[in-house]
Amino acid sequence: MVVNGKVAVVTGGASGIGEATARQYCEHGASVVVGDVDEEGGEETVASIAADGGEATFVPTDVAEEDDVKRLVETAVDTYGGLDVVFNNAGTEGGLADFADYDSADFDRVVAVNLRGTFYGMKYGIQAMLADGGGSIVNTSSVASVTGIMGRAGYSASKAGINGMTRAAAMEYAAEGIRVNAVLPGIVNTSMQDRVAVQRPDSTDRYEISEAMPGRASPEELANAVLFLGSDLSSRITGVTLPVEGGFLVQP
Ligand code: NAD
Repeated sequence: MVVNGKVAVVTGGASGIGEATARQYCEHGASVVVGDVDEEGGEETVASIAADGGEATFVPTDVAEEDDVKRLVETAVDTYGGLDVVFNNAGTEGGLADFADYDSADFDRVVAVNLRGTFYGMKYGIQAMLADGGGSIVNTSSVASVTGIMGRAGYSASKAGINGMTRAAAMEYAAEGIRVNAVLPGIVNTSMQDRVAVQRPDSTDRYEISEAMPGRASPEELANAVLFLGSDLSSRITGVTLPVEGGFLVQP
């Protein structure tokens, strides 16, 4: 019960890594507010958590919309009396094209969801944590933030931007008791990875082969890292971009 009594916001909690993380937090005693554009999936997540005796609330949220994210955070504070953890995890891969052909509107949309959405979660999460004695922000970045991914200009840019914001906010708020970290997944067994694998099987295959631990991570393996970073077990860790990628980045 490493987050017993804590209040957590999880974006992108309707499926994949976010769903697994919402579930883990509730299993370890936290109350969770899930935000997602997928209303059906979000409602399913909180219903299945409740069926297992957990405490969770769903708020329809487009993280690219500032007012949505503000309302998501306010719901956590109003419903559960405070805020301890924000997991900024909602993301989109966008379209697939090399730079010369990459659609500019698609670039803007990917950046709006992945980067600006994370910024909003940090901004309103930090405001609430400042009023509540501190907390922990965890952002979902990607190995793409380090290596780039061919055909994914918006995705590569947005994930690198998340690393920068993570480090900047960690330095700004350490004295106020707010820690800010990121996880860098590699290949995770989620619907996003299924879509990516279909769109560009050659690149996904290459990533899987080059991992020291081949194959896809489970969403639960990512959730374990997010649980640790959100808990007091990581009380001395801030500004870290933690690879959870089976050794993908450990290349000669
Ligand atoms: P997923 O598709 O299962 O989950 C993504 C969730 O985000 C979905 O529930 C979706 O509805 C939600 N979402 C998308 N746009 C949104 C928006 N504008 N507002 C609110 N919610 C929105 O995929 P996943 O793999 O669990 O992705 C979670 C995060 O992990 C993403 O940020 C992704 O970039 C990152 N990631 C995934 C992998 C992988 O291999 N799956 C690798 C590296 C990073």
